[in-house]
Amino acid sequence: MAAAPARALVRRELLGTTVHAVGLDDALTWIRDRITSRTPGYVVTLNGALLVQAARHPALRAVVNDAALVAADGMGVVLAARILRVTGIQRLAGIDLAVAACAQAASDGRRIYLLGASPGIADAAAGVLRARFPGIQITGTHHGFFAADEDAAVIDSIRQARPDLLLVALGAPRQEQWMHQWIAALGVPVAVGVGGSLDVLAGRVRRAPKWIQRVGLEWLFRALLEPRRWSVIRTIPPLFLLALRERVRRGAGRHGA
Ligand code: UDP
Repeated sequence: MAAAPARALVRRELLGTTVHAVGLDDALTWIRDRITSRTPGYVVTLNGALLVQAARHPALRAVVNDAALVAADGMGVVLAARILRVTGIQRLAGIDLAVAACAQAASDGRRIYLLGASPGIADAAAGVLRARFPGIQITGTHHGFFAADEDAAVIDSIRQARPDLLLVALGAPRQEQWMHQWIAALGVPVAVGVGGSLDVLAGRVRRAPKWIQRVGLEWLFRALLEPRRWSVIRTIPPLFLLALRERVRRGAGRHGA
């Protein structure tokens, strides 16, 4: 019989998509419990762009809703929650979760595998993590530019490395679809979709200064540094429109009842 989920999470819903009301400490405790109970599941760090795509595409929504934990990675999601009067949703940046989960795994003697980003980046990120957390066990890395017919070989490499924690940095929504498809085959208790975190760890991409992170404008900082990220900004108006429409619809439903 499969072990029961280690810890109940407070589940909320935004535009039909699951988001859990978790902060960093809750997420870390949850990850530790899942590793101990060896219940396989994946974590989605949901940003505004992914939320809009999930709201529009039922198949992707099902992939997000199948995650064992969905954290709100981004102010877009937090603001959509406010518009929809959904309480308890806090911002938890994927990079912060990734680093803290690695630190925790290091102190618990757990094994980590880094999957994703351009060739060389995962190894560079592993080097940075080893310098930062002495004793950390990174038992494997693989770049993220592989074709579907190489899935089996990548899964094999991960299985052989026997990680307790797998960071998957293939970009959204590919990483979510990949984890959803392969979580059972991977044999890891916890896989976390971490977007561009390996690039940040490897020093390829700069994070915003702390004060910019605190005021919730890291997305704007990153968009200014990386013009291809303007596509993320383009998803903000549709996200607000979707959230406002849903709120009006709900209000109308209440009055009509
Ligand atoms: N990436 C990858 N394989 C792909 C496409 C992207 O490994 O087929 C990597 C890319 O190199 C980067 C990460 O996925 O490291 C996506 O970063 P981005 O900042 O775009 O992710 P987001 O946070 O927007 O999901």
